[in-house]
Amino acid sequence: MIYMKSIKTLFKIGHGPSSSHTMGPGFASERIKKMYPNHSFIVTLYNSLALTGEGHLTNEVIKDILKDVSFKGALNPNKHPNLLIFAVFKDGKKTDEIEVVSLGGGDILFNNEIKEDEKLYPHKSFDEIRNYCLKNKISLVDYIKKYDSDDLFLYLEEVYNQMIKTIKTGIKKKGLLPGNLKVERKAHKLYESALKQEDVNLKNRTLLSTYAFSVSEENASGGIVVTAPTCGASGILPAVLYYAADTNNIKKDKIINALAIAGLFGNIIRRNATISGAVGGCQAEVGSACSMAAAAYAYLMGESIEQIEYAAEIAMEHHLGLTCDPVMGYVQIPCIERNAVAALRAINASELALILFETRKISFDMIVETMYQTGLDMDPKYKETSEAGMATIYKELEKKKQ
Ligand code: SF4
Repeated sequence: MIYMKSIKTLFKIGHGPSSSHTMGPGFASERIKKMYPNHSFIVTLYNSLALTGEGHLTNEVIKDILKDVSFKGALNPNKHPNLLIFAVFKDGKKTDEIEVVSLGGGDILFNNEIKEDEKLYPHKSFDEIRNYCLKNKISLVDYIKKYDSDDLFLYLEEVYNQMIKTIKTGIKKKGLLPGNLKVERKAHKLYESALKQEDVNLKNRTLLSTYAFSVSEENASGGIVVTAPTCGASGILPAVLYYAADTNNIKKDKIINALAIAGLFGNIIRRNATISGAVGGCQAEVGSACSMAAAAYAYLMGESIEQIEYAAEIAMEHHLGLTCDPVMGYVQIPCIERNAVAALRAINASELALILFETRKISFDMIVETMYQTGLDMDPKYKETSEAGMATIYKELEKKKQ
């Protein structure tokens, strides 16, 4: 039985631009450096890491930690899309070899050691959780407080503070993002436009997009973000929470509760499907983040457990099949704009759920299973390889220009 881990492990604070390609390899390198402090290394990056690692700064983060290291790339469809093999050397002789899988959201698996998860949650699906809450007449927040770790809500306050800090940092910055794509930072431009806007609705919606752009641009430039549930999709939940707090004057305690609810939905997706773009395409990253944000927003608008569930379901349903094809391997196009569109969609999903929840036919668990199966069926070239879609069309057009 795989248990659901603490929500704390879903929201990791660290450097972007990618939880699977930067944070996970970074965590692995730190652990290996402690095990072998005076050694040299050859790291083989497999599949998605080999194809998009450069744009995702994988090599840079590993080099920063291990120092004496060289790299190889390898493609093998029989291996995990995000596998790293660390060959360890002392005085020119190989002394060890460690396999690490970067699972997504910064989670890593060392040498296939499956550690017994903390047995925090007794339930494994939203159906079970909903039924338990309704039977015992408790809210989702009470449920999380009952089963998650005692210090969860303290940690979530730290998480929310970091989300706000990242939004505020990103809004101030102008100029180009790092890398050969020469993408302009746009959060500042959106913010200035919002401030001039007289139509309140348009102003608020532009602010929502501003926040999503701001976090995603910080992520793309290696700034500090929170995995929500990943770095690539880290702009959606902070944007929706900050927008809701600002436009509805909601107190921080309630926002922290909403963050916990978002975490619960993300945790179910992580346990029963995947949150990794290399395993399930962008539906697993931006789709999951949108689902989490829709649940959080529905809670903040006072919606019931069924309405919250329906909001999360709608948000995921309309991301099904979404591919991952980052141009030149950078977490910039389509990622940044996609975060802003998903933030708007999360609010739209919760508004539909408020009115239509009694008509629904699809549960959250059904859509999570559908997303996972769709991800497994998806052609591997659409899963964080930059070998299809926009990434290839852009490359061909650039070649013609030369
Ligand atoms: S397209 Fe989506 S899954 Fe792929 S890198 Fe960008 S945000 Fe992540």
